[in-house]
Amino acid sequence: MGILSGKTALITGASKGIGRAIAIRYAQEGANVAFTYLSSVEKGQALENELAAFGIKAKGFKSDASNFAAADELVNAVVAEFGALDILINNAGITRDNLLMRMTEDAWDEVINVNLKSCFNTVKAATRTMMKAKAGSIINITSVVGIKGNAGQANYAASKSGIVGFTKSVALELGSRNIRCNAVAPGFIETEMTAVLDEKTVQGWRDAIPMRRGGQPEEVANACVFLGSDMSSYISGQVLQVDGAMLT
Ligand code: NAP
Repeated sequence: MGILSGKTALITGASKGIGRAIAIRYAQEGANVAFTYLSSVEKGQALENELAAFGIKAKGFKSDASNFAAADELVNAVVAEFGALDILINNAGITRDNLLMRMTEDAWDEVINVNLKSCFNTVKAATRTMMKAKAGSIINITSVVGIKGNAGQANYAASKSGIVGFTKSVALELGSRNIRCNAVAPGFIETEMTAVLDEKTVQGWRDAIPMRRGGQPEEVANACVFLGSDMSSYISGQVLQVDGAMLT
């Protein structure tokens, strides 16, 4: 028995990095796990088998988080397959970094659609089921960059700030239905997303972290276990930073 036994979770963007770590921690805690991927098809299929080995029900769906109709279809498929949807984790995210002067309209639109619109897409679809059940926990993955801004990431920072406003608004609207909505704001986490950064940039991030190291995906996943579970039953509308005191 884990602290998520009997619950069904949907995690977007779980083929690698933080999403993959969340899926594994959720399975370890007894949750049934539905998850999505987009381009990493083999990794997605491998994860499905890895999760099933924990003795829970697991299924991966190839689904574009930025597509409204696809999110609706996805949630319907999850509810049909699993019979419930208790926890939704909006994790899918991308970067298309550039200085504002060089940022294209496409790079702006793509990041806003994948990172921010995706949250609207799934939350709108999932709350139908959660409202009927009079229970639910929604966790949106934002970033410390969404709180403090970052040169070269105006699109990403805007998408992540948007997630904070969206999270608080959903918490206010749906609190009376016993649906909680929180955000997790990771700092610098060692994943493929940050592996592309040059050594100077990485050192700059490390120097800014009082704990003097990057975080691991599992350390973000543990925060998501807490917020998804009944251990956090009176916590809603919050942004939980997982950043080694980077932004304090
Ligand atoms: P990552 O290793 O690059 O993984 C990103 C995941 O998102 C992949 O599974 C990818 O799936 C999926 N994804 C991308 N576009 C998608 C789309 N349109 N539809 C569905 N899935 C899509 O990134 P990460 O570092 O784990 O980041 C995960 C989340 O944490 C993101 O929201 C990111 O902004 C946030 N975050 C990360 C850090 C950090 O330091 N790493 C810090 C703060 C916040 P495919 O590979 O299948 O396309």
